[in-house]
Amino acid sequence: MSKTPITVAYGDGIGPEIMEAVLRILEAGGAQVAPEVIEIGESVYLRGASSGIEESAWESLRRTRVFLKAPITTPQGGGYKSLNVTVRKTLGLYANVRPVQSYEPFVTTKHKSIDLVIVRENEEDLYAGIEHQQTDEVVQCLKLISRPGTERIVRYAFEFARRNGRRKVTCITKDNIMKLTDGLFHRVFDEIGQEYPELQKEHMIVDIGAARLAEMPERFDVILAPNLYGDILSDIAAEVAGSVGLAGSANVGDGVAMFEAVHGSAPDIAGKGVANPSGLLQGAVLMLVHIGQPEAAARIKNAWLKTLEDGIHTPDIYDERVSERKVGTQEFAQAVIERL
Ligand code: NAD
Repeated sequence: MSKTPITVAYGDGIGPEIMEAVLRILEAGGAQVAPEVIEIGESVYLRGASSGIEESAWESLRRTRVFLKAPITTPQGGGYKSLNVTVRKTLGLYANVRPVQSYEPFVTTKHKSIDLVIVRENEEDLYAGIEHQQTDEVVQCLKLISRPGTERIVRYAFEFARRNGRRKVTCITKDNIMKLTDGLFHRVFDEIGQEYPELQKEHMIVDIGAARLAEMPERFDVILAPNLYGDILSDIAAEVAGSVGLAGSANVGDGVAMFEAVHGSAPDIAGKGVANPSGLLQGAVLMLVHIGQPEAAARIKNAWLKTLEDGIHTPDIYDERVSERKVGTQEFAQAVIERL
């Protein structure tokens, strides 16, 4: 099999450590990929590219149409616009798919049977980046929800549920307050939902939805949400399932896709060699399925599950009641490789 070219970014913070671990596992697991490394983020911004991404990187992305990306640091409250948002918008990655599972009894969690998928709209809402300085003392951020954008993500969620044998789709908005924007999202969900009679449909207001997700995550199957709520809900889901370090995600557009971990660049533990590479590895497994290498995906996922089962755990999931050995990032990768 010829190798599929993929674009790879090592990112910031813990990014380079977890990417190194993941690429080692992919190679040992027989993934037929040819990584093309691009540099994006802080270093590029400091060199003078105001968007944090250079033309040569876009060229690679347009050609390979598959992007494995480690987390990047986004300056807070100033500096360049979030690169994640720029990449998603420029490549038209309209759907963010974030599966979350619990791995009880191997990874400690109160919730034993979580198996849900968050489908998050990825281009609109408050993340469209429409912010204005109105006066010295008043600033404004606009929430943008369009019917075409909503129809596309709602249909994606229902089709995803149908294709993957899921039973229920829960739509989460705040349409009791934002009657026009979230109201439109909810209405389109109800309209398109009629075309999927075999699926259960429900709607929740985001505050109670988040509370239920934290307390009763087992009751959810597919969750559909606008951009901001989907982002927050997926961190809650990943954390209650064991650690934000475990979940991966796919950002999907027409003929192009980006794969990453759910978490950020974790500057607090960067350079210490203790980060859990599992989230990025889960993203890489989703990527292998996407590029038509399901056997390598299954082999790697099984070796990873066996590593967790054997109690070989990074500090974020280490619990002396179930763990055998506390390991760092590269040692964890080695343990996965030994189980391939
Ligand atoms: P974070 O997800 O980076 O970290 C939150 C907490 O989780 C920290 O205590 C961290 O140590 C821990 N954690 C995260 N990933 C871990 C892992 N793999 N193993 C073990 N522990 C892990 O969130 P943050 O601190 O709010 O954000 C840091 C930076 O990351 C910010 O600049 C933010 O904008 C950026 N960010 C980037 C992405 C992305 O690139 N997709 C996503 C979210 C945040």
